[in-house]
Amino acid sequence: MVRRPRNSKNGIMYEEMGSRVLTDPYISDKGLKEPTICPACNLVYTKKKWIVNNNLFEKISNEKNYHAVLCPACHKIKDKYPMGVLNLSGQFLQDHKNDVELLLRAEEKRAQERNPLERIMKVDTSKDNNIVIETTTDSLALRLGRALDHAYKGAHKYNFSYGDKFVRVSWERN
Ligand SMILES: [Zn+2]
Repeated sequence: MVRRPRNSKNGIMYEEMGSRVLTDPYISDKGLKEPTICPACNLVYTKKKWIVNNNLFEKISNEKNYHAVLCPACHKIKDKYPMGVLNLSGQFLQDHKNDVELLLRAEEKRAQERNPLERIMKVDTSKDNNIVIETTTDSLALRLGRALDHAYKGAHKYNFSYGDKFVRVSWERN
């Protein structure tokens, strides 16, 4: 089945998914045993969700009766498996690279308040008029693209891959 863009909302194209259920390959339907903690970022898996809770993390760690498993975000970072790639280009970046990076980090932080598994996993600023960002979720890449549009306008394009839950966002401003 070919998936194609269908609805446009806030400048974002949503694609038609038909009967295909797109799932994150790093999140198991069966869930995990509880309590589980992520040894890399200290998230806690409780009530079928990964959450930030330092007190609970301390308590569970002290009881020593827990499972330790990398959370999906840390697991993707370890495997270098991004689910979103954002490619920023254009003259505009030459003078505004710092501002753009700050804006993206602030947006990442906001996204994490709702879902701590949304992370920027890599930022490549090695080229003058180009920044490439990899994210652990497709939704974060879309969200960052939307935040850039909102702040700086520019032109954007969203490409979804056909087999996977993966999105490539291109944003350009000259
Ligand atoms: Zn983690």
